[in-house]
Amino acid sequence: MAKTKGLTSQQEDFSAWYNEIVYKADLADLSPVRGSMVIKPYGYALWEHIQRSLDDMFKATGHDNLYFPMLIPISFFEREAEHVEGFSPELAVVTHAGGKELEEPLAIRPTSETIIGEMYSKWVQSYRDLPLLYNQWCNVMRWEMRTRPFLRTTEFLWQEGHTAHATAEEAMAETTQMVNVYADFAENFAAIPVIKGEKTEGERFAGALVTYTIEAMMRDSKALQSGTSHYMGTNFSKAFDISFNDVNNEQAYAFTTSWGLSTRMIGAIIMAHGDDKGLIMPPKIAPHQVVIVPIYRKDDQLAKDQVMAAVDELAGQLRDQAVRVKVDSRGGMSPGWKFNEWEQKGVPLRLELGPKDLEAGEVVIANRLKENKETVKLAEASSVVVSALKQFHDDLYERARVFRDERSFVVDDYESFKEKVAQGWVHINHCGKPACEEAIQEETKATPRCIPFVGPETDGPCVRCAEASAYPRKVIFAKAY
Ligand SMILES: [Zn+2]
Repeated sequence: MAKTKGLTSQQEDFSAWYNEIVYKADLADLSPVRGSMVIKPYGYALWEHIQRSLDDMFKATGHDNLYFPMLIPISFFEREAEHVEGFSPELAVVTHAGGKELEEPLAIRPTSETIIGEMYSKWVQSYRDLPLLYNQWCNVMRWEMRTRPFLRTTEFLWQEGHTAHATAEEAMAETTQMVNVYADFAENFAAIPVIKGEKTEGERFAGALVTYTIEAMMRDSKALQSGTSHYMGTNFSKAFDISFNDVNNEQAYAFTTSWGLSTRMIGAIIMAHGDDKGLIMPPKIAPHQVVIVPIYRKDDQLAKDQVMAAVDELAGQLRDQAVRVKVDSRGGMSPGWKFNEWEQKGVPLRLELGPKDLEAGEVVIANRLKENKETVKLAEASSVVVSALKQFHDDLYERARVFRDERSFVVDDYESFKEKVAQGWVHINHCGKPACEEAIQEETKATPRCIPFVGPETDGPCVRCAEASAYPRKVIFAKAY
């Protein structure tokens, strides 16, 4: 595979490759405010498709959207002890407004459990008011010291679901349902295979009793946490007094959950699929699924007219099949230049149509993943494209799955662990103690990603400290973003 000019290869320096492709593919630009980013139209179109697909899934599972304000009284954060400890270092706080110092400073939301808890306490009186199944799409702010576009920025876009239930069982079922929704989205829309599992105590969300996660492997074999779903028990309902009269007319606290997926998913798509030529977009959420590049000599107006008429007809047929198609009719650029640009931007299929193709009644289809070209009859082109896009999704998913499985290991001793965790993900017997996890991180840079729902069973003591293992299944450790 020829690499794109001026793009560092993944092998050479994966991190440089990532930073370069974000800007070269025109997904984002640097913002004048350090640590934040401007999402450009191509990146935002990808986010819109992520949003639409997920939002449909939220609605299908009974949730409604609403919107809370971005400013939260600072005192709200002090009501839940673990939550304030977890988020205080990252809070950005408004102290002045309207030319005056505010009586109470206002935090810019890093997440909205607190303000939502305050409102839910007003909305919930009786068991008949439950469950509350709400989600909001918004921006949040977390003051990060080291930032990278899409992966870690001070301001980012996400959705946060917040639900309240009458029973613990219902709230746990919701927590599980939403991690399943995230996995469904990652695999069936983003073509990224994920491991579903539970976070160990040291990695849980601040204030949660249970945190579920989906973990995806990037092409440098590091893990990226791509969506999380939290069960809060009654921690937040006690802190914010979300209480109600239950069926026996006794006072009870609601059980709450929250779940979120952010623009980090764009980082996951870039790093799970991209190669030395640039991005590879998963077809179901790609801004353009197909690009058509018309080919003609600029001094041959007749050929141009004939080619453009055929291109427009083909584009119309594809749109009728609900294919998102872009016709690149820009003047002053060679077809080769356009091919490179769309390869770098990762458009799954490129159609090339010139006078000779037209004469033969054919069109050339170039596949970004297989890096091959095939010639098909114009009359069959739209049905070939529709099935090629389906196949593209399956091939992309399978490539990522094989890549991950080849770099996943099960080991029984700490020496092998150190060797293998430099190459990928490692399943080990683990004590679950935060101190042991910190030592592992210090010694290997790896962190516990999750206790997978499905995976090898524990069969001995912790491989590092020899204390009893804490979980029925081995814990996955990996270097992570
Ligand atoms: Zn241990």
